[in-house]
Parts: sequence; C-alpha cells; structure tokens
Amino acid sequence: MSIKENEKVENIQSSDPLGTDSVEAPKYSCALGGAYGTALGVYGLVPLLHAGLGCGMGQLLGQFYAGGHNAGGPVGGTSTPTTGLVEEHVIFGGEDKLRKLIEASTEVMEGNAFAVISGCIPALIGDDVEAVIREFEDEVPIININAPGFNGNSYEGYELFFEAVIDQILTSLPKEKGVVNILGVVPYQHIFWKGELAAIKKILGKIGLKANIIFTEFDGIEKLKELPAAEYTLVLSTWNGHRAAKKLEEKFGVPFITFPSVPTGPKQTSKFLRTVGEKLNVSDDVVEEVIKEEERRTYRFIEYSGDILLIARPHSYFAVVADSNSAINITNFMVNELGYLPDIIELTDNPPEEYRENIIKALTEDLEVASLPEIIFEPDSYEARENLRGRSFLFLFASSLELYSASELGAPDVGVPHITVAFPSYNRVILDNSYASYGGGLRLIEDFTSHFAGPL
Ligand code: SF4
Repeated sequence: MSIKENEKVENIQSSDPLGTDSVEAPKYSCALGGAYGTALGVYGLVPLLHAGLGCGMGQLLGQFYAGGHNAGGPVGGTSTPTTGLVEEHVIFGGEDKLRKLIEASTEVMEGNAFAVISGCIPALIGDDVEAVIREFEDEVPIININAPGFNGNSYEGYELFFEAVIDQILTSLPKEKGVVNILGVVPYQHIFWKGELAAIKKILGKIGLKANIIFTEFDGIEKLKELPAAEYTLVLSTWNGHRAAKKLEEKFGVPFITFPSVPTGPKQTSKFLRTVGEKLNVSDDVVEEVIKEEERRTYRFIEYSGDILLIARPHSYFAVVADSNSAINITNFMVNELGYLPDIIELTDNPPEEYRENIIKALTEDLEVASLPEIIFEPDSYEARENLRGRSFLFLFASSLELYSASELGAPDVGVPHITVAFPSYNRVILDNSYASYGGGLRLIEDFTSHFAGPL
C-alpha cells in the first residue's frame, strides 16, 4: 500500500461514519431500492412498496435504468403496487392503505409470494406493518422487509432482504451434497448480475456442483426456500452478502467461504475452482481436467488479441472507478493476465470500515506488479472525478457518470477511452453480458481494446 493511500484511508476513517456528510451523485440507491431490486431478481415474488409516492418511480430511474438500462419486468417499475404515501398518511398513518393494497394486489397480481418493502415514511410514523401482514397470514405468503432509505444504501437493502427471508420463510432442511448457495452479487447494483450468476452456475456445474443462484431462476421462491439445504454458501464479495451468509450459518448450519469477487479470466477462475473443489471434496482430477480444458481454450483465444495488446497500447496505465467487486476482478485481470499497470483505483460502494482492509488486500496482495496503485474509497462522484486529474492512465474503467469527463482526464492528448463497467450504467444496456469466469476475461478484452484497436 502506498503512503498516499494510507493517508486517504485515514481521512475516510475520520469522516462521519453515519454518512450525514453530503455526497454528490452517489453510485447506489437507498436501502429500499436495494431490497426492491433484490426482490425483483426472485421470479415469482411480487414486491409491494409501502413507501412515499415517488419512491418506486425513483427506483425505476435510479436503480433499474441505472443498472444497465433494465426495465422492472412484469411486477417491477410502473407495475409494482405501492401505497404511495402522502401528507395525510404521515398524519393519520398508512396501515389502512397498506391493508387495502395487500387485499387488492393479492387478488389481481400473479405470484407465489409477496414482499412488503417499507420505506422511510412508515418507519418514521411508526406504522405497525407486521400486524397488518399478520391479518393475511392464512391467505398468502408475505415477507415483511423493513428497509427505510435512511438505514443505508442499496447494498444494505440486499442484506435486509435476505435477513427477512431467513427469519420469516426458511425452515431446516436435510443437507444436499454438492449444492452451494451463491451470495454477494447484488441485482442491478452489480450491473452484470444476471450474466455473472449464470456463468458461475455453469462453471461450477462442470466440476459437478449444483449452484443455487436464486436470482433469474424461474422457480425463485423454491430456490429461496432451498437455501438451508446447501453444503456451503459461496460469498463472491469482500463485503456484500456476508451478513446473510453468517445468518444462514447461525440458523441452519450452512458454512460459508468468501471470495474477493466474481472471478474474471483464467487465473482467478482456476483459483476459485480449486478452492471450492477442495472445500466440497470434489476430486482433484475432475477439477484439474476442467481447468486444463478451459485454460487451453481461453489462452488460445487471448492470443487473437495479441497484436492489439502489444502494438496499440502495450503495458500502459489504467484507472478504475467502480464498486469493490468490479474493481477487484478487473484490476487483477488487467494486471496479472495482460500486464497493464494500475494507476488509481477508486471504490464507490462505501463499504463499512471493518471490511476496508480486506478490500485493499484483495486489490493488492496478488498483484504481479512493481508499483501498487493508489486506492481511495470515494462515494462522491465529483471528488472521484477530481482525483483522476493529472494522472497518466490511458484508459478508464468506470460508471457512465465518468463518460463525458474521461477525455479531459488521465494522460493528455491521447484521448482516454472510457468503458462502463459499474453502476450506474446509463450508456450501456446489459442483459446477459458479464466478465465472469474464463470467457468473461475475453469479453473484457473485447470491450476495452475495441476503443483503440484500429487501425493497426
Ligand atoms: S430514501 Fe426513503 S423516501 Fe427516498 S426513495 Fe428511499 S425509501 Fe423513499
């Protein structure tokens, strides 16, 4: 870690831990947004927002469109029922409105279960949401998720969602050999969530494991209920999903292993498979055979980019402005597989203090490079942009908020390409794409070299 980086970390540690300092254009939404996005990732679950009139629409624009320009789907966005609380409910309470919303929604909306997600207003006025939900307990399964926006950001909402699910709908199940839960990939907030989960499920399937990825599975509610049956939970993040995994372990005895992020490219993915294989008692022969085949194919394909990498912009500096998950796998891939040099890494997801040392470790300890990058935890978009001035990087991996300033940042007179790899992604539609697993490394090469490949 550089001295400069130490200074920055100290500064952050002494800043207001409650986050009451103002932050310009933070790269996440509120806890309600995170819980809502997570609920929408579970097919068959219908979210009901018990919140202010504008809260749901705010999430459509600020969470779903920002998460790779995705619509909310059949029960999301403008299709999500909401109590739409206004001034009179602040005075007289919103319980009656919630009761009517549940009655009407359970009658007309198709779903296997419902989730009441409560925002700031019900929390402030003290609505007894639990009591209202209890009135319907014999009719329809309803999860009660208390996620006032002032409690935290979207990542907090993801944890609140799982804590509610674990406490309210899960029951003990016999363990199923070879089944692993996947946590740590936050729907919409991690913009490649759909593709990442599919890629992880596929590669684990090759070594004989069954991954319960929950999201995007058509039997989503069943997948949630199967969480206690797993042999292990794999948490693919230095901090997201940790609380949920701990709770699963405490309540249902499902142990967990954590990884710095979703793996990108051969080195990270092979390491991931070896660690998982060892924990889950998968035969070494099976794991090594898969690794050999996958690496052979991937490295052969990387060779096709050899001339672009070596002639167009060889071994140049790059910068990253992204959430921890994305920054870790991209930085490691760019340095350890392609030989590029990390200049500055700015982490935008505002992780709690206790996780920051591990994040720095994940970003630096395996880097095969002589000079380590400067690392800054910076949720403020203005400050993040200012920190990029006067540096020598030749391309920038960031969110769409850095798109228009990329050309005036970094090395002068070269035209610094900008690649959107993190939330918000207003300039890039993401449906199934991702940088996960062996093939993910190839896609990352395609995405950034296409900016400067021609004419050779
Ligand atoms: S911060 Fe509160 S008021 Fe704002 S969108 Fe989130 S829940 Fe609604």
